[in-house]
Amino acid sequence: MAQAPLGDDVFGDDPTVNALEAATADRLGKEAGLFVSSGTQSNLCAILAHCQRGDAYVVGQQAHAYRYEAGGAAVLGSIQPQPHLLDEFGAFDLDQLGSHIVTDSHLDHFAVTSLLCLENTHDGKVLDAAYVAAAQETAREAGVALHLDGARLWHAAVATGREPAEIAAGFDTVSACFSKGLGAPVGSVLCGSLKLITEARRWRKMLGGGMRQAGIIASAALYALDNHVERLAQDHKNAARLGEGLREIGGVEVVSVNTNMVFLNARASDHEKVSSALLKADVTAFVEDDIRLVTHLGISADDIETVIDAFRLGAR
Ligand SMILES: *Cc1c(COP(=O)(O)O)cnc(C)c1O
Repeated sequence: MAQAPLGDDVFGDDPTVNALEAATADRLGKEAGLFVSSGTQSNLCAILAHCQRGDAYVVGQQAHAYRYEAGGAAVLGSIQPQPHLLDEFGAFDLDQLGSHIVTDSHLDHFAVTSLLCLENTHDGKVLDAAYVAAAQETAREAGVALHLDGARLWHAAVATGREPAEIAAGFDTVSACFSKGLGAPVGSVLCGSLKLITEARRWRKMLGGGMRQAGIIASAALYALDNHVERLAQDHKNAARLGEGLREIGGVEVVSVNTNMVFLNARASDHEKVSSALLKADVTAFVEDDIRLVTHLGISADDIETVIDAFRLGAR
C-alpha cells in the first residue's frame, strides 16, 4: 500500500485503481470495472445505472441489496424494490418469479420492472447453477436486466471449483467485495459493460464516492485478488471444523454450515454463560438466540479450536 503508484481517480488517472478495475473485470469476464468504497455503494450504483425513476427491481426479501442497505435505491433513486421471498437455498420460486416481473406498462398502475437482482453466496449458500440459468432465462425473456450481488462470489467460485467468471456469467453487472473474506481493508468493484460502468461511474461521483488518491486502498484489494482467493478453501475448512466441533459438544444447535458461515441456534442455552466463556477466551460474538459465526483471513485453524473450547465451557 505504501508503494502504490497514485494519481487522481476522479480524473481516471490513478494507475493502481485502473489496474484493480481491469484485473477484476478480467477475472469476472466483464468489459469494465469501477472501484467503490463499499458493497452497498456498489449495489446502489448498479441499480441506479440500470433503473429509471419509477422503475422497480425484483430482489430477495432477505437479500442484502434490499434489507441491509438503508433503502438507498428508493430514497436516492426513486426506484421501487419488489422484494420476493428466498427459499432455504437462497433461491426465488421460479414459478412465482414471473408474476413479480411487470414489463407491460400499458396500464398506468404498475411500476415497470427493469432489473432482477440475485445474491451469490447468500448466507454462505452457493446458488445452484441450473437455478441461476433458469432465473436468468426468466429475466431475459421479459427483457429485464440482471445484477449479481457477488460480495462473496469468490467463496462460491472456490467452493465449487468454478472460475469467478463462470459465477458472474449471464449477469449484466456484478458486484464483488474485497473487504470480506479477501481481507482488504476497504472496497468493492462493480463490473459490467463499458456503457453500464460509465453510467455507474457518474452515479458514484454523485454519491460522493469519487476518491482521489484511492490507489492506496486499491493496492490492498489488488494484493487480495492475487493472493487471497484460492486460500478461501482454508476458511471453508475452518468453518466445517467449527461446525463439527460445536456439534460434538452440544449446548448450542448447529443449524447449518455453508462455505465460510456457521449458523447456530442458542435458544436453549444460557446466553450470559456462553458470552462470558467466549469473552474469557478473548472471543467477541453477539450471543443471541441466532448466532452467525464467519471465518476469514484473520481466523486461523488454532483460533477455531479456541472458539470450540470456549463454547464447551459455556455449554457446561
Ligand atoms: C457485506 C455485503 C454487502 C455490502 O457490503 P458493505 O461493504 O458492508 O457495504 C452486500 N452484499 C452482501 C451479500 C454482503 O455480504
